[in-house]
Amino acid sequence: MDLDGRVVAEQLKASFSAEVEALAASGRRPRLVAFQVGQNPATEAYVRGQRRGAEAWRIDYEMRTLPAGATEADVRAALADANEDPSVTGVLLQLPLPAPLPGRALQHAIAPGKDVEGVHPENLGGVVHGRDGLAPCTALAVMALIDASGVTVPGAEAVVVGHSEIVGKPVALMLLARDATTHVCHKFTRDLAAHTRGADVLVVAVGRPNLVTADMVKPGAVVVDVGINAVPVPGEPGRTRIVGDVDTAGLLARGCRVTPVPGGVGPVTVAMLMRNTVLAARRRAPPPEETAPSLFLGLE
Ligand code: NAP
Repeated sequence: MDLDGRVVAEQLKASFSAEVEALAASGRRPRLVAFQVGQNPATEAYVRGQRRGAEAWRIDYEMRTLPAGATEADVRAALADANEDPSVTGVLLQLPLPAPLPGRALQHAIAPGKDVEGVHPENLGGVVHGRDGLAPCTALAVMALIDASGVTVPGAEAVVVGHSEIVGKPVALMLLARDATTHVCHKFTRDLAAHTRGADVLVVAVGRPNLVTADMVKPGAVVVDVGINAVPVPGEPGRTRIVGDVDTAGLLARGCRVTPVPGGVGPVTVAMLMRNTVLAARRRAPPPEETAPSLFLGLE
């Protein structure tokens, strides 16, 4: 049985809808401003998802596109404007940026309270401290999918494959905060299968198709497949399709619960971006207490 990200995303939206309406009714509807520099076909799907997500959540959304030749100073000035504008409650900068712009450093120029992708060092520091606040959207999405599976997290053997700043590392810290016994694997892990076979909860965030096959998992494990890979469609030259990092059919045949790609982590990541946007707006202008849903990650 697979874990449907669209269902989890829908539940998340429903849990916040009363709060969005309350904020809007008091003239404080959350407003997300996204920046991109030039056009990048690789991020088009995420940008489309953001726009659709904001519409569904009834959050104001604006994409500001800077010319492909924008300088670092231009991007910093644009971000500073949004940081200072009280009507803007959330800001994000679409990566990657054209060379030689320093993408991560520029993301860090977003005010921490408006950093709805949760990637500012201050917000990543909050994850280290187990604070339930703005945090990387994909890591939050992984945790929501694990919770949706119904697996008991405290005491579970959890294995995270991949340790990037915005996915693997924060997921590992969130699992630790929930008392899972957490192992992190990476490119230099000598025997990946020896680790993955012990996992009750397995999170794979690498970007390599078929990295995890059926013989590498424990029957019945919960597997969250974060990877996004374009692979050729057999017999159709020039056409590609999107797959994750695991052999989904093989794992399902072993009785695992697996998130599909597409339709797993992706839609929940967009929903978490909206959740962060509401949270940022809530902090700037607290809504009446009874309309504020509790944040469900269980992190204090
Ligand atoms: P990343 O920054 O490239 O990190 C990949 C990680 O995988 C690194 O820690 C790397 O280790 C590790 N790795 C590389 N080869 C490995 C191997 N053979 N065995 C074990 N670990 C290995 O990527 P990311 O941003 O975390 O993204 C990972 C994947 O998730 C990508 O496919 C990306 O497109 C996808 N993604 C999906 C979403 C979504 O919303 N669905 C969001 C974000 C990312 P080293 O550092 O040691 O090289």
